Amino acid sequence: MEPYLGREHLEFREEVRAFARERIRPLAPALDRRAEFPWETVKEMALRGWLGIPIPEEYGGMGRDHRSYIVAVEELARVDASHAITVSAHTTLGTSPILAFGTEEQRRRWVPLLARGRVLGGFGLTEPGAGSDASRTRTRAVREGDHWRIHGTKIFITHAGVGEIFTVTAMTDPSREARGITSFVVCKPTVDLDRTQALGVGHAPELAFTPGVRAGKKEDKLGWRASDTRELLLEDARVPLDHQLGAEGEGFVNFMKTLDAGRVGVAALSVGLAQGALEEALRYTQEREQFGKKLWEFQAVHFRLADLATEIEAGRLLTYRAAWLQDHGQPFGREAAMAKLFCSELAMRATTLAVQLLGGVGYTDDYPVERMMRDAKVCEIGEGTSEVQRMVIARHLARGFAGEDEPSRSEGS
Ligand SMILES: Cc1cc2nc3c(=O)[nH]c(=O)nc-3n(C[C@H](O)[C@H](O)[C@H](O)COP(=O)(O)OP(=O)(O)OC[C@H]3O[C@@H](n4cnc5c(N)ncnc54)[C@H](O)[C@@H]3O)c2cc1C
Repeated sequence: MEPYLGREHLEFREEVRAFARERIRPLAPALDRRAEFPWETVKEMALRGWLGIPIPEEYGGMGRDHRSYIVAVEELARVDASHAITVSAHTTLGTSPILAFGTEEQRRRWVPLLARGRVLGGFGLTEPGAGSDASRTRTRAVREGDHWRIHGTKIFITHAGVGEIFTVTAMTDPSREARGITSFVVCKPTVDLDRTQALGVGHAPELAFTPGVRAGKKEDKLGWRASDTRELLLEDARVPLDHQLGAEGEGFVNFMKTLDAGRVGVAALSVGLAQGALEEALRYTQEREQFGKKLWEFQAVHFRLADLATEIEAGRLLTYRAAWLQDHGQPFGREAAMAKLFCSELAMRATTLAVQLLGGVGYTDDYPVERMMRDAKVCEIGEGTSEVQRMVIARHLARGFAGEDEPSRSEGS
């Protein structure tokens, strides 16, 4: 029995595990090599409801809890991190801000399209001059009569090419700095129109696309290569007033809250990667013989894997605990940062060890561990670097030391 999971989570985990093994595992190496977005399997996941796992049924989601979503991301990452980040970024970054901060009308307009997986969503915070210090946003929104005029460049945006609905931040009152940042929803057509129309997923022609919003350069990345990462360009975009998400000036605080949930997702993805790497290393060292023995029989080998398995359990518990707190409506910003920090660094250690234990073949694409190692690195960067997680944790520590109550809102990125 798992302390944070019930039978329904374990059954769901088995379902996702089987799908990942049977449908995703055979496709992942070629998708990675070609840096190709996995539309076919995304469609299959959408049909299963997995693009809206923790979204209430009344908005088109599965109505499950965050732990269900977390175990799904973990299981996908065990086989392929690109599929896992697609589900994770779409759900926590693309859909949840509209659900959490939108009006009822905005929720009804956009969330069902996202939760049913008819289109993909994303979140545009990072800019050339605003990364770890996301309050430095230069994207500017100026009100002009019945609309906002928004101009700026967002970079490294997951799904900026393939997706259609995005929440972005823009400065509406520079004199108020971070408190002058507001969120907006913008829509643009997917760059894969032919493919999505043929598949019947990924494009909603009925969406009111925002004039002046388009995808920019596609990144050629080290890892997460089958995940879509591009610039999102706002070129004097004409954004209707009813696309403003939440109150003016609350965009930054709301994005920080969104990132807390996103970090639990990246922690789960990292645990999945580490688990996948452990399993590859176990399999290989139990078969490969050197010096007249299986590699596994050398204590220098099995001690390292025993240590790794122990760390993975610790990371998993940190992650499930953060998701449990979220499911129970309790503050989880500190736990999310701890889980993300620990698990992303663990994923890097685990995948590097797996490559080492496989020796020369580990360094080739005959085995998945080199892809896992490349995929693990970005877990220490995206949704707040490891250094940023340490800042967040340190601020919580200082507050605790000062005897302040657990803060109800999240810390900066
Ligand atoms: C594949 C991928 C997908 C992404 N998806 C999205 C997305 O969907 N939406 C989005 O908005 N963003 C996205 N990002 C952006 C990501 O969140 C940023 O890259 C990240 O927050 C770091 O910002 P930066 O790259 O500007 O690095 P910088 O902020 O320039 O940091 C560079 C280095 O300096 C360190 N550093 C910075 N400040 C300090 C300090 N005070 N003390 C110590 N060290 C410090 C950092 O930790 C890092 O090691 C994505 C990035 C990647 C690579």
